[in-house]
Amino acid sequence: MTEPTLPLEASLESPDLPMDPALARDRRYMQAALDEARLAEAAGEVPVGAVVVWNDTIIARGHNLPIRSVDPSAHAEMQALRAAARVIGNYRMPECELYVTLEPCVMCSGAILHARIRHVVFGATDPKTGAAGSVLNLFGEAQLNHQTTIAGGVMADECSRMLKDFFGGRRRAQKAAQKAEQEAAQDAGASDAPACAHCAHCDTGATTASTDTDPSQSPDA
Ligand SMILES: [Zn+2]
Repeated sequence: MTEPTLPLEASLESPDLPMDPALARDRRYMQAALDEARLAEAAGEVPVGAVVVWNDTIIARGHNLPIRSVDPSAHAEMQALRAAARVIGNYRMPECELYVTLEPCVMCSGAILHARIRHVVFGATDPKTGAAGSVLNLFGEAQLNHQTTIAGGVMADECSRMLKDFFGGRRRAQKAAQKAEQEAAQDAGASDAPACAHCAHCDTGATTASTDTDPSQSPDA
C-alpha cells in the first residue's frame, strides 16, 4: 500500500524542477481522464473522468453518468473498468492502471480491488466521500486479499478547479432560477389579484357611479 503522495507530487510539479519522467507519464494519462471529465460536464453530470491503461496504452475510458443512465453505480471508474474488462476479456486486470480525476469513493475503490487493478492515480482529493485516504482508506487494508497501490495529487489543481467551476456554475444557475421564479410570482400577483377586496369594490363602485352620473342620462340634460 502506498499512501497518497500529495506533498511529493506537488513538489515534483514545481516549475523550478525538471519534470520527472514518471510524473510526465502520469500527467499525460490524467489529461486523458480530464478530457473524459469534460464529456461528463457537457452531459450535465458532475465532471469526473477515468481511463484504464494497459501496456502503456489507454484501453478504456469512462466518465460520470449516473443521472443520464439512471444508475447510481455509473461513476467514471466503474464505466472505465467495465469497458476495460470487455477489451481484455477478463474481469480481473492485474496488469492495468487506472487514472481518475477525483479520489475514488467506497464503491469504486471496492470495484478497483475486485478487478485486481495494479495501481491507481487520482487527481483531486474528496474530503466527503474519498475512500483512498480522505474519509477512510480501503487501499490501506492489509487484510484484504488484493493490494492496489495508489497515488494522489496528479494535476490536482486542474481536477479540483473543474469541479469547483461546475458546482459554482450550478449554484449561480439555481440562484438565478429562484430569483426569476420570485419575480414572476410578484408580477403575477400585481396583475391578476386585486390589491384588496376594498379596492376591487371601489373599482366597481367607480364604474357604477360614473354611469349613474353620466350627464347625458340625466333627466335634467
Ligand atoms: Zn465512485
